[in-house]
Amino acid sequence: MTKAIKILGLIGRAVDYSYSPLIHNTACDILGIPYYYTVFNIADPDMIHDALRGAKALGIAGFNVTIPYKKNVVPFLDELSEEASSIKAVNTIVNQHGKLTGHNTDIAGFASPLLGYKERITGTTVGIFGGGGAALAAIEAFNRFFSLKEILLFVRDPQKARNMLNETGYKASSPVTIVRSDELEKIRECSVIVNATPIGTRGRDKEGITSIIPIDCELINETQIVYDMVYNPLVTPLLQAAQRAGAKTISGIEMLIGQAERSFTLWTGMQMPVSRVRAALLHEMQMKSTE
Ligand code: NAP
Repeated sequence: MTKAIKILGLIGRAVDYSYSPLIHNTACDILGIPYYYTVFNIADPDMIHDALRGAKALGIAGFNVTIPYKKNVVPFLDELSEEASSIKAVNTIVNQHGKLTGHNTDIAGFASPLLGYKERITGTTVGIFGGGGAALAAIEAFNRFFSLKEILLFVRDPQKARNMLNETGYKASSPVTIVRSDELEKIRECSVIVNATPIGTRGRDKEGITSIIPIDCELINETQIVYDMVYNPLVTPLLQAAQRAGAKTISGIEMLIGQAERSFTLWTGMQMPVSRVRAALLHEMQMKSTE
C-alpha cells in the first residue's frame, strides 16, 4: 500500500508562476519522502482565517506564505518563532498536530550568500532599495548576522517607510536612515547595495524602468557587492551594470533557494539536496526564458 501523502503549499495571491512547487517537489522526489507541494491562491485577505482553520482540520503539513499575506497570517497562528516575531512577518508555517507555528526563513535565506563576505561588511554602511516586506527581512538579516555602521533605506515615500518601521514596532540594532530613492550619490558609501523592489523583473518594465539605479550612472564600483532579490531574469539589468563595474553580484535565486532550504527542513526534518534542486531550478528557468 502507498503511504498517505502529506500536503505542503504556498499561500499567496496569483502565485501560479511560483517556482516553490518545483523546488520542494524536486527535493521530495530526490529524497523519496511522501510530500506534495502545491499552490493555494487566496483572492481575499478575509479568507485567510478560514484557510488556516481548514488547514488544521485537514492536517495540511505546512505552508509558505508570500505577497500579500506575510503579515495577514500572523494573528491566526498559535505561535511565532523569534525571527518571525522580530518583524511580524511569516513566510513559513508548520502544522504540528493542529498547532500552527509561523517562521521567517527569508531573513536567514537572505543572509546566507552574504556570510562569506562578513569581514568585508562588518562596520560598514549598506543600502537597501524598497520599503516592503523583503526590505524589512533584509534589515533584520543585517542586524542579526552583521555588525554595521548604518543601514540606508532608499524609498520613494519616506513617510510610508517610517510608518512601516513604526507599525512593526521594529527595533534595529544598527541605525536605519531613510533616504529618498533619488538620492543616488549616497550609494557610493555602501559596501552592499540590495534591490528589494520588483524593479528589474522580466515583463514588469511598465514604467520603463528596469533598474533601481540607472545602469549608466557610474555609481557602482568594484569594491561593492550588489544583491538583487529579483530572480527572473537571473542576471537583471542592475546585476549586468554591477558586473560591468567590476562589483561582486548576488542573484535573487540564492535567497530563493536559501529560504526554501530552511522551510524544507522545518517541515520534513531533512536537509534539502540543494545542488540537485538548484540544477532543476536553473533548467526550468532556462526553459521558461526561451518560451
Ligand atoms: P512589497 O511588499 O510589494 O514591496 C515592494 C517595495 O518596492 C515597496 O516598498 C515599493 O514602494 C517598492 N517599489 C515598487 N516599485 C518601485 C519603483 N518604481 N521605485 C521605487 N520603489 C518601488 O514586495 P516585497 O515582498 O517586499 O518584495 C519585493 C521584491 O523582492 C519582489 O520582486 C519579490 O519577488 C522579491 N523577493 C524575492 C525573494 C527571493 O527569495 N529572491 C524573497 C522575497 C521577495 P512603495 O511602497 O512606494 O510602493
